[in-house]
Amino acid sequence: MKNTNTAIFLIGPNGAGKGTIGKKILRDFELPSLEIGAICRKEVQENSKIGQEIAPYMAKGQLAPDSIITPLAINELKSVELMLCDGFPRNLEQAQAILDAGIIPIVFEITISNEEAMRRASNRLYCSKCKRIYTKNNFLPSKIPGICDDDGCVLEQRKDDANPEIVKARLDVYAKKTYPVLDLFKKHNIKVYTIDGSNANAYEQVVAILKNLI
Ligand code: AMP
Repeated sequence: MKNTNTAIFLIGPNGAGKGTIGKKILRDFELPSLEIGAICRKEVQENSKIGQEIAPYMAKGQLAPDSIITPLAINELKSVELMLCDGFPRNLEQAQAILDAGIIPIVFEITISNEEAMRRASNRLYCSKCKRIYTKNNFLPSKIPGICDDDGCVLEQRKDDANPEIVKARLDVYAKKTYPVLDLFKKHNIKVYTIDGSNANAYEQVVAILKNLI
């Protein structure tokens, strides 16, 4: 794997469990990581120039412009030998940029039904400080309701999770723009490992595959 840039891509609709699976991969494999959605939220929170440009897209559940996201992601991916990437690529242009940059992709497709994705979005909470994810139900509850176990901060709901119309819009963007990325990778003989995100052993399945690859 020396002198190459390899990246593990987690691709799936919102709520499929990419964030949770990603955090466990980082815990067990000690890799650098790139989470484009988190970068976007931080830029918007800080009201930076990039944040101001992408905020209207995020508010509607649409993808931020490739002209901003793609160079940012590709630079990061090219800076290390192996990286975990959640939330990129999200369309054919971004996937093609990965191939053009010579980055070797390890691709996991995390699947979930739209109904379950809607349910999960309405239940999801996160700590705005450490970004740990919780749920309001008993899937990933915090010890004290509404408070982060790690740093005692108040848990929040993402704005784009709070509105079912925005959640639906993001699922629609996934089906129309992101899902075709999997076919592009397959066309380039890149194996896509499909994992059922509603399976309680989803992470164990990912680990079993990764252990053979990295
Ligand atoms: P996520 O946390 O992955 O659900 O991303 C939240 C929002 O950030 C998305 O709805 C988009 O507006 C934006 N975003 C995240 N990743 C990308 C990407 N690869 N390309 C364009 N926009 C993105």
